[in-house]
Amino acid sequence: MKKTFHVDGQGFYGEFGGAYIPEILYAAVENLKKEYLKVLESKEFRDEYMQLLRDYVGRPSPLYYARRMSEKYGCRLYLKREDLNHTGAHKINNTIGQILLAKKMGKTRIIAETGAGQHGVATATVCALMDMPCVVYQGALDVKRQRLNVERMRMLGAEVRPVTTGNMTLKDATNEAIRDWCCHPQETFYIIGSTVGPHPYPDMVARLQSIISEEIKEQLFEKTGRDYPDWLMACVGGGSNAAGTIYHYIDDERVNIVLAEAGGLGADTGHTAATIHAGRLGILHGSKTLVMQNPDGQIIEAESISAGLDYPGIGPMHANIAQQHRATVLSINDDEAVKAAYELTRMEGIIPALESAHAIAALQKMNFKKDDIVVLTVSGRGDKDMDTYISHKHMAGEYGDF
Ligand SMILES: *Cc1c(COP(=O)(O)O)cnc(C)c1O
Repeated sequence: MKKTFHVDGQGFYGEFGGAYIPEILYAAVENLKKEYLKVLESKEFRDEYMQLLRDYVGRPSPLYYARRMSEKYGCRLYLKREDLNHTGAHKINNTIGQILLAKKMGKTRIIAETGAGQHGVATATVCALMDMPCVVYQGALDVKRQRLNVERMRMLGAEVRPVTTGNMTLKDATNEAIRDWCCHPQETFYIIGSTVGPHPYPDMVARLQSIISEEIKEQLFEKTGRDYPDWLMACVGGGSNAAGTIYHYIDDERVNIVLAEAGGLGADTGHTAATIHAGRLGILHGSKTLVMQNPDGQIIEAESISAGLDYPGIGPMHANIAQQHRATVLSINDDEAVKAAYELTRMEGIIPALESAHAIAALQKMNFKKDDIVVLTVSGRGDKDMDTYISHKHMAGEYGDF
């Protein structure tokens, strides 16, 4: 059999992945495992999903040739504009797909966890669209820090439940969502927001985000006469925008993959979210993967300026491609990301999300050949990050002088 970096029949990517779940969820996860491929590959699902992506999300998202940035970095740089999607990021591609699946499976209630609130908003949005009750678990600290997204979720009709256990952040919200799922496995569908969680979630989310590379193939061919780039670049939190970006190229060795993770103050400082650099094998969120943990196996809180990359784990697909050297993983510190966001803003007139800015910052660490075709995914827009950009103007170098 040809070597593949996609999931195997047991839900593993190399040694990573699997489904480490409490007994009480076994039936629900088995059922999902049995149904998801059947549904996702059916014509009925595909038609409905593609129509919503087109008419509701605004897809295909443009593939934009960034002329000035290309000159600066000595390559042909194309930006995949997920920032132009409805709700401002790639997350909606996934929530649309999962809510259609939930309906087809006869589920009547949606739960989700959220850190910064981006996945919570994307979930609340599709629940409003489909008239489904929605409960979003969010750490009490994040509820306080992310006021605007909390109000967006509530306006959309979702119930936001602040979680007051632990550090009151994403990990604790996830535990609470899993607890809820355990109590109501029959009627509840748990919409997970990234390529994390027990199998089949990482594969399911990767497939639902794979529309990104499906479009890149077609758009790149149209623009360059070739349907593959030399380089693909994306930021990684849990890994979903990166998974979508690489999905149709992952086994194509002509294409180099670069993942940018959030270094925080530095991957070796202990104040970081660079899980691939600083993590060790462990189990988080139902999946065997790299996890930031202390010597006793207690999870260490991730730290990054960008809330969406603040996750102490990493998708099993990404842990595997890093371990197998299929991908190059770069750690980008807070100040590098802020500076890159300002640079993209001034050079191309695009204010990116702080998460996406980590991928932009990785450009400086690359050594391209002049004709190299580079596709970089701009996972989201920067409106939500304006307060941070303003308060960190001092990191913007020559661009911060205004
Ligand atoms: C949530 C988020 C991310 C990180 O999540 P992935 O699953 O790694 O893609 C990146 N960019 C934006 C804009 C986000 O909202």
